[in-house]
Amino acid sequence: MNWPEMNVLVVGAGKSGKAAVQKLLDLGAEVFLTDRQQTDQIEGINELGLAGDRLILGRDPDVTAIKPDLIVLSPGISPELAFIREATEKGIPVWSEVELALRDCQALVVGITGSNGKTTTTTLIGELAKKTGRPAVVAGNIGTAISGKVEGLGSRGIVVAELSSFQLELIDRLRVNIAVLINITPDHLDRHGTLENYAAAKARIFENQTGKDLAVLSWDYPMVREYGKITQARVTYISTEELLADGIGLSGNDLVWSRDGKTTKIIARNELQLRGKHNLENVMCGIAVGLEMGLSGPQIAEVLRGFAPVAHRQEVVGSYDGILYINDSKGTNPDSAIKALQSYEEPIVLIAGGKNKGLDMTEFLEEAKKRVKSLVLVGKAADDLEIIAKKIGIKNIIKAVDFEDCVDKAIAEAAKGDVVLLSPACTSWDMFKSYEERGELFKTLVRKHYSKPI
Ligand code: ADP
Repeated sequence: MNWPEMNVLVVGAGKSGKAAVQKLLDLGAEVFLTDRQQTDQIEGINELGLAGDRLILGRDPDVTAIKPDLIVLSPGISPELAFIREATEKGIPVWSEVELALRDCQALVVGITGSNGKTTTTTLIGELAKKTGRPAVVAGNIGTAISGKVEGLGSRGIVVAELSSFQLELIDRLRVNIAVLINITPDHLDRHGTLENYAAAKARIFENQTGKDLAVLSWDYPMVREYGKITQARVTYISTEELLADGIGLSGNDLVWSRDGKTTKIIARNELQLRGKHNLENVMCGIAVGLEMGLSGPQIAEVLRGFAPVAHRQEVVGSYDGILYINDSKGTNPDSAIKALQSYEEPIVLIAGGKNKGLDMTEFLEEAKKRVKSLVLVGKAADDLEIIAKKIGIKNIIKAVDFEDCVDKAIAEAAKGDVVLLSPACTSWDMFKSYEERGELFKTLVRKHYSKPI
């Protein structure tokens, strides 16, 4: 890339857009930044030093006038926007910020994708990477841009990058040295259209791998398993269902690594702080990557023992009057909420609802029927959820008027020995800015009820 000769249009002035602008300016490119919002609403935009025609705010840019050689698109923005389609038709490449950040990266790149478990697995692999003693950076879809964080790492460094389907959809040459695909279940179909398109976007993580690289895949999802055949990389399968002859699996209560006819125990299941079978998927992916990074079994086990759930992912709020409160606000799709339901043996008071991303809730409510003693519904999706829940025969359905009310009602329903679980299967966007805000309010309300420090 001859950056000083290039006009680059960055679309979206969020975290990754701003980081991309800075990186491109450092590379010497001519940079244009566009966002549909006006300047005074965008934090930190003045510090970028772009002015005049370089900032196109509050409207879409004129691609013919700017003549970009490249467009860098932020993950929240659809490539289907008219001006981006126009650019694509003219043959102008469109990249995500991760392509820009990692394209020429010297460090070992570990990329993690999947429908659920990305943040948990990425955080865990970040801890394992630190254990190697090499300089390690955790970034990407987990909440920080990658540009600006990895430049000084050098070839000893490790980048642990959480990659979403939106970011992977727009890569070009990005080579992921250790690629992890945890699972594929329906999500984001409002943007990707079909499950096949969504899966294909995720599978691009393997696209530029070579025989020196590694792909870590779950054997338990037929669609995921198939990708082991298309990658050029070596493959390690993980399975929470079977003891694989070659890979990471379960033997009784132990998580084991099998290779060349030899099986080595890494850790016993009950030594983990993470609950539920789904978390074994995340842990097994971590084990596979840890081994590839050169860690020993005991070193990996030490990291795993100390690893607690990430906030808002089956996070333990506390146990009050013998009732266990769990904040799974990040359970924003039916599959993750099903997995949360399956993690507890105790009777469950479930809080569900919010804004549905257009996903089918039947299977989730069927699982709820098996496991919940009360279903407390809230938010925009509450009416639709109630209709399905009644149809499949859930008995104790309670509707709440707002979030405070749903927490009050859930507390009132619970008795000693129960779990009160917030795992809504829906996004928070009808009532909150983010799932974090929803989860924080849940924790605050519960602790306030029991007069505990917030
Ligand atoms: P992501 O970053 O992919 O959204 P998170 O680690 O943030 O994944 O977890 C999101 C939700 O999915 C949480 O409710 C969590 O409990 C649940 N979850 C975590 N790992 C898995 C998994 N392997 N399969 C299904 N659900 C999972």
